[in-house]
Amino acid sequence: MIPITDPKRQFTALESDIFIKIMHVLKKGTYISGENVTQLESVIADRLGVKEAIAVANGTDALVLTLHAYNIGPGDEVVTTPFSFFATAEAISRVGATPIFADIDPTTFNLDPAKVREKISKRTKAILPVHLFGQPADMQELNKLAKEHNILVIEDACQAFGAVYQGKEVGSLGDAACFSFFPTKNLSTMGDGGLVTTSDKTLAKRIRELKTHGSKQKYFHSEIGYNSRLDEIHAAILLCCLKNIDEWNQMRGNWAVRYQQKLKDLTFIESPKTKADRKHVYHLYTISTERRQELMEHLTSRKVQTGIYYPQCIHLQEAYQHLSYRKGDFPKAEQLSERLLALPLFPHMTEAEQDVVIEALKEFQVMLS
Ligand SMILES: *Cc1c(COP(=O)(O)O)cnc(C)c1O
Repeated sequence: MIPITDPKRQFTALESDIFIKIMHVLKKGTYISGENVTQLESVIADRLGVKEAIAVANGTDALVLTLHAYNIGPGDEVVTTPFSFFATAEAISRVGATPIFADIDPTTFNLDPAKVREKISKRTKAILPVHLFGQPADMQELNKLAKEHNILVIEDACQAFGAVYQGKEVGSLGDAACFSFFPTKNLSTMGDGGLVTTSDKTLAKRIRELKTHGSKQKYFHSEIGYNSRLDEIHAAILLCCLKNIDEWNQMRGNWAVRYQQKLKDLTFIESPKTKADRKHVYHLYTISTERRQELMEHLTSRKVQTGIYYPQCIHLQEAYQHLSYRKGDFPKAEQLSERLLALPLFPHMTEAEQDVVIEALKEFQVMLS
């Protein structure tokens, strides 16, 4: 089977580097809150040109801690997309606030600023755009809206490390941003990890306190916090991967261009589109087709793995029944949840592998005619 993604090949590419780093951590004996975490934070903050980066246990915690540190809670609303991984909305609910969904732009799969505008109320505290599948959201419009209404913009950049919008990297485009280092993400470790970036020093300080049980000083607790740490081993692995992330994102981009070129004559699919002012990093390469089920079955029979991101919009999830959304509320997002199909794409895939996918797709076109 040609996998949709294969994090093990990233590990293999850096195997000796990673072994040395891990051995160093193990022998040094500082397993939590050590030099690797500090270094990772400063390398990422420097790269993005932000004042602070705070490493945490995972991307979901990054979102929860950021919302909590901004005092967003019961009675507050956060406008976000119904077309994302569940954690985006879950984090809003976890702090006691209410996610208010707005429909997406079907060409980029990201929040439509015009739809966001309609959803802003007196209770809105923040807009939470997701840079879905690796393409930055319409940050200029969203930032403008936020400024008009004096609310925050928190980027969910979990799928988009290295993506660029109007010359600036995601993670530096809003008031704060959240990253995940889950194994399938572009920048990832062989386990869980996450990070918040911001130039708001007050926010950063509060997140650092909250993530260590609400303490400024060890064993003195000023508020009820969390336990959310990135381990030294994972920070060390991430430092190895960071050295290669631009090359890996470039490789993803090259595979995407190749798909685009080789599949351009197929009439039953639409390839993903990137707006001119941004760089897509292809966390996922998703085509759109009305014949998704048949196509999936055909590709499976040709030993090509595919994936559906996401089969159910967030507003229609059972967990959100209490918000009383209905099918039809966000037609663009709902239609994409029925049509998008992710093809294998990862830095270390081979041309032979991609050719198998391309040939299988062409074969499907012939079968249709
Ligand atoms: C992966 C992901 C998260 C959550 O990250 P974890 O590290 O798995 O907690 C949040 N939002 C989006 C868009 C994601 O893709």
